[in-house]
Amino acid sequence: MRILVVNCGSSSLKYQLLDMDGERIMARGLMERIGESNGRVFHRTHMASGRIHEVKFETPLTDHRAALRQAVRQLTASDTGAIAGPEEIDAVGHRVVHGGEAFREPTLVDAAVLDAIEKTIPLAPLHNPANLMVINIARELFPQIPQVVVFDTAFHHTLPPHARHYALPWSYYEELGVRRYGFHGVSHQYVSREAARRLGRSPEDANLITAHLGNGASICAIKEGASVNTSMGMTPLQGLVMGTRGGDIDPGVMLYLARCLDMSVDELEDVLQNESGLKGLCGMNDMRDIQKAAESGDASARLALDMFVHRCRHYIGAYAFELGRLDALIFTAGIGENDAVIRAACCEGLASFGLNLDPLKNRTPEDHQGEISSTGSPIKIYVIPTNEGLEIARQTAKVVGSIG
Ligand code: AMP
Repeated sequence: MRILVVNCGSSSLKYQLLDMDGERIMARGLMERIGESNGRVFHRTHMASGRIHEVKFETPLTDHRAALRQAVRQLTASDTGAIAGPEEIDAVGHRVVHGGEAFREPTLVDAAVLDAIEKTIPLAPLHNPANLMVINIARELFPQIPQVVVFDTAFHHTLPPHARHYALPWSYYEELGVRRYGFHGVSHQYVSREAARRLGRSPEDANLITAHLGNGASICAIKEGASVNTSMGMTPLQGLVMGTRGGDIDPGVMLYLARCLDMSVDELEDVLQNESGLKGLCGMNDMRDIQKAAESGDASARLALDMFVHRCRHYIGAYAFELGRLDALIFTAGIGENDAVIRAACCEGLASFGLNLDPLKNRTPEDHQGEISSTGSPIKIYVIPTNEGLEIARQTAKVVGSIG
């Protein structure tokens, strides 16, 4: 079975074509600056011969339709394409950021599903419209191919009521869906399944904390295979300190800013989405730059680092307590996979709680199958590269397989 995975943002579109027989990537690509005259195309084909063919060029990508057409052109190019034509694709899997209350699992797209996704737009106005648009375009371009939606919120549908709700007037939940949903579910699910495999346990027999630390970041408590708490909330603004989002904040601060600076909702949103977090603290949002600046004595970079780690430890501690028994802590995503200093800081001084990091293994996790805890550490610590594309493809294949 060949699955095309599509993951789009407001001005970008990423795709992967996977052959599920052996879970092999056949091709992948990225279209950026959609809607601008200098759209950027990157495409890589993994040729059957083992050779890799790559192209990078600039071309206008007027809209997502143009971007998806461009992707199909690359996938089916006569000499360097991975497939001869779209008819060789068995299903398309779409990542959708917010599934609201309606979606708890990957779902085959039909008109009713599209209607229900449309209803989630108020909950994710920055993400879901682009997701929905691309599903519609893909349905037009590939009318014969089943389309499946995989939601970033779905893995967290198991949050128990006490973790699911805000202590706000109940009618806001009933009438407007104001509750905690959680995000990065595809990633938390993928690395948690992988961690269970490494522990030699079934997912239903593993208690885990997964730390997805990238430009966006969240931590998840997983009890016996199910998400029971996670740091993001109704939107991806809650929780950890992120690249440009500040995470947890006294809501009174927003009221104060609105009153003192006469800020509109849109202005407040812009600050929360784009001007806060690491960037707000030190002007940089790439952890590599921040590490370098902190090493050379930049006090604001040092504070940003310390706050990032402090917030991670806050959640790791809270979730370990909540789980009662913890089998493994997993680091993933850009920072979690690559930054040994952050991982060490997150685990510092926790040996008495059973988290015993091996400093040597932490520097070269790839030499130790990702295990960075010391031999005999009661709780294992792993670095597991996330693979959201593969997880979406697996879930898509399962849905399509079940309909025969
Ligand atoms: P992601 O959102 O998962 O793609 O992660 C992106 C973030 O990972 C970037 O903004 C960087 O801050 C961080 N990152 C990537 N590589 C490294 C590295 N080698 N060391 C530290 N941080 C890194």
